[in-house]
Amino acid sequence: MRNRSGISKLVLESIVDEVGLLKKSCQLALKELRHWMAPEKVKTSITIFPSSAAIVPEPLGVVLIISTWNYPYLVSLDPVVGAIAAGNAVVLKPSEISPSTSSLMAKLLGKYLDTSAVRVVEGAVPETSALLEQKWDKIFYTGNGRVGRIVMAAAAKHLTPVVLELGGKSPVVVDSEINLQVASRRIISGKWGCNNGQACVAPDYVITTKEFAPKLVESLKQELERFYGKNPLETKDISRIVNAYHFDRLIKLLEDDKISGKIVHGGEKDKSKLQIAPTLLLDVPRDSLIMTEEIFGPLLPILTVDKVEDSFEVVNSGSKPLAAYLFTNNKKLKEQFVACISAGAMAINETALQLSVNTLPFGGVGESGMGAYHGKFSFDAFSHKKAVLYRIFAGDMPMRYPPYSKEKLRF
Ligand code: NAD
Repeated sequence: MRNRSGISKLVLESIVDEVGLLKKSCQLALKELRHWMAPEKVKTSITIFPSSAAIVPEPLGVVLIISTWNYPYLVSLDPVVGAIAAGNAVVLKPSEISPSTSSLMAKLLGKYLDTSAVRVVEGAVPETSALLEQKWDKIFYTGNGRVGRIVMAAAAKHLTPVVLELGGKSPVVVDSEINLQVASRRIISGKWGCNNGQACVAPDYVITTKEFAPKLVESLKQELERFYGKNPLETKDISRIVNAYHFDRLIKLLEDDKISGKIVHGGEKDKSKLQIAPTLLLDVPRDSLIMTEEIFGPLLPILTVDKVEDSFEVVNSGSKPLAAYLFTNNKKLKEQFVACISAGAMAINETALQLSVNTLPFGGVGESGMGAYHGKFSFDAFSHKKAVLYRIFAGDMPMRYPPYSKEKLRF
């Protein structure tokens, strides 16, 4: 995975998280498409006996898919799989922030797919704005919420339905009743192991109790060092920040006066390599920049509360996140978490992996988006579910036709 300044994303991560997941999507669609396409018979009411009814999926038409840079193949081509499976023609607009993958997709899709059904349009804001002026049968957008609003406003002009796959601040609540080492490793894996935090489902911040925080910080430090060594700026096992703009954006979060003195691990940076060391911050104020914006990078603030249940109020006081994570062995706490927190998806004692389960819908709620895809949900996202009622000529009821006598009304 290259962009203009060299290797951006780890090869292993790209193979597992992009090519691997995409291949799984294609295989599933090929295997299941016959079932997904089959009309679904449904019951009808006795009042219209004899009759039968079915839900028949049909393609929407021509759909526009606008994607982002962080998993440039997966977030571009995974929706394309669903759109083609459902029988649509597709225009794909990859992100200009990953220009090499954008031009490679344009080249390869043009070469290997039917160009009367799938086209790639490369470009940045002007090209995307021009595409958005057209009338589409659906727009599927992955990216930030600010542009999500632009997409939705453009779609509204033509009454075009949208799927918005957005981001947000995904919390990790850590209880003390856990296997601390496994929990720390899984938090690290979902954060720095997922494109160095540049993943929509990466943990954005952690909440734990004041009492447990020192143990958690210590364990995270130990595991970070075990994975990435004493000088993580030298490691070959973390993807780098995508570009200088995003590097500067992250440094601005770190240089906010409100969090001065809060770094408890990391903080080193090297702009020439576009690397920032895995960084832990403890007890940052909730009105600091790092707690009011989606981080989308290698910084992990840890907030503390008196009781673990107090974390629910912290999470619910913000926008609904794309993902919410909980580490605990406490059954009651798991139940409370699932019942009290609203998020696009959740994982208990895990981070990020919910995304790989294609029997689960993948999508946000509230500010983290609308609509969902993956597996059959992708087929559904790009289909219209047409309602069809079948009748025969026998069993016609004169009652339903005028003139309407009092007897007919009584019936
Ligand atoms: P980005 O800058 O690549 O923008 C996304 C797309 O929007 C691009 O194709 C770009 O050309 C287009 N665009 C940008 N500005 C535009 C404008 N003014 N008008 C029209 N089109 C415009 O990507 P980004 O937004 O930085 O992506 C990161 C965000 O995406 C994060 O918030 C992340 O959480 C989210 N994300 C969500 C998912 C998901 O599946 N839910 C996946 C990946 C990333």
